[in-house]
Amino acid sequence: MTINNNQAPTTDNIVTQLNSFAEKIQFHKKHSIGYPLNQSSNLDEFYEWYKNSGLAGIILNNAGDPKKPSISSLNSHEFEIEILNFFASLFEFPAQNRWGLIMPSGSQSNNMGIFFGSRILAKETGKTPIVYVSSEAHYSITQLCQLQKLECKQIKTSDNGQMLIEDFEHQLDPTRPALLVITIGTTFKGGIDDQYSINQVLLDSPPPATYRHLDAALFGGFLPFSEHSHLVNHHKQCFDSISVSGHKFYGLDEPAGIFITTHENLCKQNSQYVDYLGTNIEFFDCSRSGLAPLKLWWKIQHTGSSGFHEQTHQILSNAQYLKYCLDSIDYPSWLGHISNTVYFKRPISSIMTKWQLAPNEDHRLGGALAHCVVMQHVNRDIIDLFVDDLLFSTR
Ligand SMILES: *Cc1c(COP(=O)(O)O)cnc(C)c1O
Repeated sequence: MTINNNQAPTTDNIVTQLNSFAEKIQFHKKHSIGYPLNQSSNLDEFYEWYKNSGLAGIILNNAGDPKKPSISSLNSHEFEIEILNFFASLFEFPAQNRWGLIMPSGSQSNNMGIFFGSRILAKETGKTPIVYVSSEAHYSITQLCQLQKLECKQIKTSDNGQMLIEDFEHQLDPTRPALLVITIGTTFKGGIDDQYSINQVLLDSPPPATYRHLDAALFGGFLPFSEHSHLVNHHKQCFDSISVSGHKFYGLDEPAGIFITTHENLCKQNSQYVDYLGTNIEFFDCSRSGLAPLKLWWKIQHTGSSGFHEQTHQILSNAQYLKYCLDSIDYPSWLGHISNTVYFKRPISSIMTKWQLAPNEDHRLGGALAHCVVMQHVNRDIIDLFVDDLLFSTR
């Protein structure tokens, strides 16, 4: 692709280039089973409405706190608030004590969780906290700790990607406040940290103060609609904040993250009056997308709770179907108890490339691995094609 600075291209040329790009993407979409993206976005009707609404030439900027009045009216705060309420209810945050933001990504939502937690802990104890996170957590957590200048202790994991409680017990420093980043669905294996046992350790040797952030980027999407909804229930698990990606289970067609915490935790932040927004602000992001909330709102309205229940059942049972298929050809594979992520011995590179499989290494499971994340678009026909390919490649 070239950008011609000397001579303006004709509309025909522009469209031709874009069309060939679109064709390439449509082709690759057929074999996209390696990443946790719901490629059944179905936003065609939204874009149809958007085109006719007159909004297409207007920048909607959700800068500021959606719950506070803002000077600029060109935002979609009212929809953002509805979405945040939807998620806060899913995770059972009390109606009178909830707060959140739609962020540019799940990683940025984790950034916010760590930022909120470390400020609360430092304020309450006068000491900087230690972040505890499993070694199979998303890579961004250790980077975010560096960014926020926080000491980070990586806790060993069991073979299935869950934080090893004995190692957490061993590494916990009871003289410093503890900021836990608990993974609900690790990126590669779909491991779920055991909140009950973590809490037990914290009760046995209590640090001066504790903050618990859940990184539930993918699993936080479907768990509320499964029989395991208690795992992401604030009321039952007493975590302080949670982040979920909007483009994973929820199928938003651009990256976004949902960050939810209590209003109480917001009030414990350092507030700064920002003249040009006309309000107090407790966080670092200024401009935020106003279009993403509109699309997410549309998706939630059109899918509804029953639709999300259905999709949850579908992805979990299709993941079991894939595991069953791999078992029946004696191909080494693993699937967590509550998971849509099947991981297996790494296939030859032509299979990796064709199916866009993400690689990983784990010597405990024989070394080179890859995984398939069974999202809404990964139906049984696609699974059959993939398993046929895999079987053929081993002959
Ligand atoms: C995908 C993922 C992230 C990162 O989220 P983005 O929305 O891609 O920034 C963080 N944690 C886990 C467990 C993930 O699977």
